[in-house]
Amino acid sequence: MDWKTEPELVEVPKPTPEPGQVVVKIGGAGACHSDLHLMHDFDAQMMPWQLPFTLGHENAGWVDSVGAGVTTVTEGDAVAVYGAWGCGTCDRCRIGTENYCENPLAAPVISGGGGLGLDGGMAEYLLVPAERLLVPLPDGLEPATAAPLTDAGLTPYHAIRRSWSKMSPTSTVVVIGVGGLGHLALQLLKATTAARVIAVDNRRDALDLATQMGANHAVMSDAQSADAIRELTGGRGADVLLDFVGAEATIELARSAARSLGDVTIVGIAGGSVPLSFFSQPYEVSIQTTYWGSRTELVELLDLASRGLVHAESTTYALDDAAQAYRDLHDGRVRGRAVVVP
Ligand SMILES: [Zn+2]
Ligand SMILES: [Zn+2]
Repeated sequence: MDWKTEPELVEVPKPTPEPGQVVVKIGGAGACHSDLHLMHDFDAQMMPWQLPFTLGHENAGWVDSVGAGVTTVTEGDAVAVYGAWGCGTCDRCRIGTENYCENPLAAPVISGGGGLGLDGGMAEYLLVPAERLLVPLPDGLEPATAAPLTDAGLTPYHAIRRSWSKMSPTSTVVVIGVGGLGHLALQLLKATTAARVIAVDNRRDALDLATQMGANHAVMSDAQSADAIRELTGGRGADVLLDFVGAEATIELARSAARSLGDVTIVGIAGGSVPLSFFSQPYEVSIQTTYWGSRTELVELLDLASRGLVHAESTTYALDDAAQAYRDLHDGRVRGRAVVVP
């Protein structure tokens, strides 16, 4: 196995938990677009991780066995796995923001987790290095349903939550890109705010899905999108724009359709860039990136999901078909999220 190759299905030994560790029997593992970047676009020079490792960073299942000293979970508990594995003791990790760990050299792997540098959940069992990384599943939520939420739900939830103060009933939020993360963003906006929501995509079926998910307006992505957003907002522009693509054209659209004092948040990792100057966007527009979310936000998100307020549309694959799941994802043939169920 090497960078820039397709994944292979191989036999690996069942892990045994050391003190403090937990082995989870996987009930679902989400296949993510970022795995495609991992397989196709990165190499040993760009990444701090050693190969091989098992893919799958969106995981949930049942506790199979626990190491000495583990007290908060016990065999058979249904759990979701928080995917960003930090050092656990720095200031960021202490408040649950392990996605921004400031001591990555002390973490189980540098800036990663299971499926990102260490063995992930596209397997029967997953070794989790610490019990704090497990969130109990609330009643009514199955592991296969919860798994994709740990990234595809948590990432938009964090991006939305940090801008809640700008999402009043009179404000407008724009979701650019209605894919795996975007369709969850629409539900999360409806569940947690009273803002008007405009969805933007260049695919008609994605816009239809957006309307089903409660978007107030669906706008085709083209050269007129920014004007369309201004028109729908009485000429003011949108208060918050969430870009789940991150290409040059979508970032440009987001900031040109922003209202003064607005937030533009780049979540997608397409890697586009735009020149920045005093005049390139309305006054006091904040432009930021976000990466994943916190442990406490995952607790909140699973609570929302257990009450039926957010649900990841998904297509299920057997473990033997995991490589097919990635091919379908690459070819844009998956409706909602691809989830591997061993
Ligand atoms: Zn992911
Ligand atoms: Zn840390």
